[in-house]
Amino acid sequence: DIISPASYPPITQQLSENVILTTLDDVYTWARLSSLWPLLYGTACCFIEFAALIGSRFDFDRFGLIPRASPRQADLIILAGTLNMKMSAPTLRLYEQMPEPKYVIAMGACMISGGMFSADSPTAIRGADKILPIDVYIPGCPPRPEAILNAIIKLRKKIANESLEERGITRQTHRYYTIPHH
Ligand code: SF4
Repeated sequence: DIISPASYPPITQQLSENVILTTLDDVYTWARLSSLWPLLYGTACCFIEFAALIGSRFDFDRFGLIPRASPRQADLIILAGTLNMKMSAPTLRLYEQMPEPKYVIAMGACMISGGMFSADSPTAIRGADKILPIDVYIPGCPPRPEAILNAIIKLRKKIANESLEERGITRQTHRYYTIPHH
């Protein structure tokens, strides 16, 4: 059937039904929260739980998470394990090589607060937030893979509610680039 132009719905109605208006910032936010690429990185036993996520049982690819071997292709680093003095400089170097905007998850008691390492430990850095800005913390020893997935969901919510401008203003990353000494 031929529909006469006179029977067309008003242009405002057609626009509201067929056109989605948004901002470039919102589109970019949607894209980055749907395609977080974590760096394949671990320094101790917590990494075993992280590695389990990559298998078919937990299948974290369904969140758009594709593990990367190069920091230049990663925008998420899950700090899994113990952060000791010797690994702090390489960890910073990896973080520096990741493109902005980038995110950090601290996984496990050791990474959050030093865990089983005492305050007078000559090797452990008691808290990764002493050298890097942390977006989400996962408590536990070790945290289960489900806890990591929960942290990813929290990070996605954080990204969804944070504009790039806000992140640029709130993240003065250069001030974290100091390695603490005992
Ligand atoms: Fe290992 Fe527990 Fe420390 Fe994780 S929190 S690195 S499982 S000792």
